[in-house]
Amino acid sequence: MVDAPLPDPALVVLVGPSGAGKSTWAAARFRAQEIVASDDLRAVVGSGPSDLGASADAFELLDRIVAARTGRGLTTVVDTLGMEPERRRRHLGLARARGLPAVAVVFETPLALVRHRNRIRDRPVPAGVLAGQVRRLVDAAAQLRSEGWDQVRVVAPESAASPPPRPRSAPSSRSHDFGVILQVSRFPWGEEPLAWLTDIARATDEAGLQGIALMDHLIQIPQAGRAWEPLPELWVTLGVLAGLGTRLRLGPLVSPVTFRPAGITAKAAATLDAITGGGTFLGIGAGWWAREHAAYGLPFPSPKERLDGLESAIETIRALWAAGTKPYAGQRVSLPETTGYPRPAGAVPIVVGGTGARSLRVAARLGDGCNVPSDDATLERAIPLLRAECDAIGRPHEDVAVTVLDVPVVGRDRDDAWARVERLRGRAPAGTFAARHHAGPVSDHRDRYARLFERGVSSVFLALPDLSTPEDVLALEPLGSS
Ligand code: GDP
Ligand code: MG
Repeated sequence: MVDAPLPDPALVVLVGPSGAGKSTWAAARFRAQEIVASDDLRAVVGSGPSDLGASADAFELLDRIVAARTGRGLTTVVDTLGMEPERRRRHLGLARARGLPAVAVVFETPLALVRHRNRIRDRPVPAGVLAGQVRRLVDAAAQLRSEGWDQVRVVAPESAASPPPRPRSAPSSRSHDFGVILQVSRFPWGEEPLAWLTDIARATDEAGLQGIALMDHLIQIPQAGRAWEPLPELWVTLGVLAGLGTRLRLGPLVSPVTFRPAGITAKAAATLDAITGGGTFLGIGAGWWAREHAAYGLPFPSPKERLDGLESAIETIRALWAAGTKPYAGQRVSLPETTGYPRPAGAVPIVVGGTGARSLRVAARLGDGCNVPSDDATLERAIPLLRAECDAIGRPHEDVAVTVLDVPVVGRDRDDAWARVERLRGRAPAGTFAARHHAGPVSDHRDRYARLFERGVSSVFLALPDLSTPEDVLALEPLGSS
């Protein structure tokens, strides 16, 4: 695309994170003397472009140069992150005073590309700092509209020009829109836990599913298996999956707030997100199973206290993930500081599990999504409730994703599906069991998921009740493009 010419002379202020391509863009369009770059000035008054100790001096000089050039009606390109509203407005005021047109140029370089460019730099900006810059860009882009610029230009380089090393297959507009994710709820790994986990993850990637979610329990739950079957610890296992270098999104579904202090969960999820370069999600809930708490010596307070705990936990986690290290004083939680490094690499969606009215209210108020069972009766009740809770606080419905947990019996064909029902149903009548788990070939499930998505469901967490081998996962490939 050919840009329309910029006014000349003009004040041009660049806005974008490190590695967005600001300096490259400016160098291709302006004379060196027209560009005032904080990096260059740090190198003039300090030891080099990344000498942060020299920033105050560099910016003092920068302001003087901008004032001098605009005062003479000369084209001036301000090459900084451009995210301080105060400084932006000062420069805009200088241009106005001299009658120079003022243009803001916003670099909406995709996060993955910014990260990739940053990584290959001599002195990369720390990943958490970069993620903070990318988040601040969203605020800055909104503020610019009301600041009075003559033009706000958006530069959005094509990511194809320099593809990031690990593109995720689902380019989605929202971080919590992620199609079909495998929820692994049983671990029949025999003598080779690591090999089994590795093979299942590779198969999930190959089948084109968007990620892997792990249950968070201490004893295998009766819905999924027997108490003496292996059930590995959540974050250790997610760490193993993270180390495989797939493009899969990873996270718990659902982690009870009763297991760990919220700050520790914030730390674990931020670490996972940082080491995988983004894509983590955090399913969180009030906890429900008394037995595992008793067995592991954990308190299991009343439902009300657990739900209160859920609200405080989400607030704590968000505070520790937010930019800055300042004290936090919120509605339910106060923290003397929020020094949490690494920060998550991207936006980690918080998905609140639970079908109760209060869980849905918590999802609507504090979450990025809810998670409920996939059956019709539940959806008929939960979706309107969730939306009513959103309406009550004026939150757009689409800000809170509806995600479901689906436990289908998937057969190679109808016969195979029924053979599986027979193996799995225990004492339940075959017809009831088959209906509850929608027993059928994978094509049936694909159609069913299409209907769920039409209904407003954004993600399906799929748990195979008889997951055993990588072939079981590869058979889900027709669902991979959902
Ligand atoms: P700034 O931090 O926003 O000033 O980013 P730079 O302009 O210094 O660019 C960061 C890195 O990305 C450098 O290695 C550039 O060579 C590279 N880069 C910038 N723009 C482009 C582009 O349009 N295409 C490609 N392939 N690389 C670019
Ligand atoms: Mg630069």
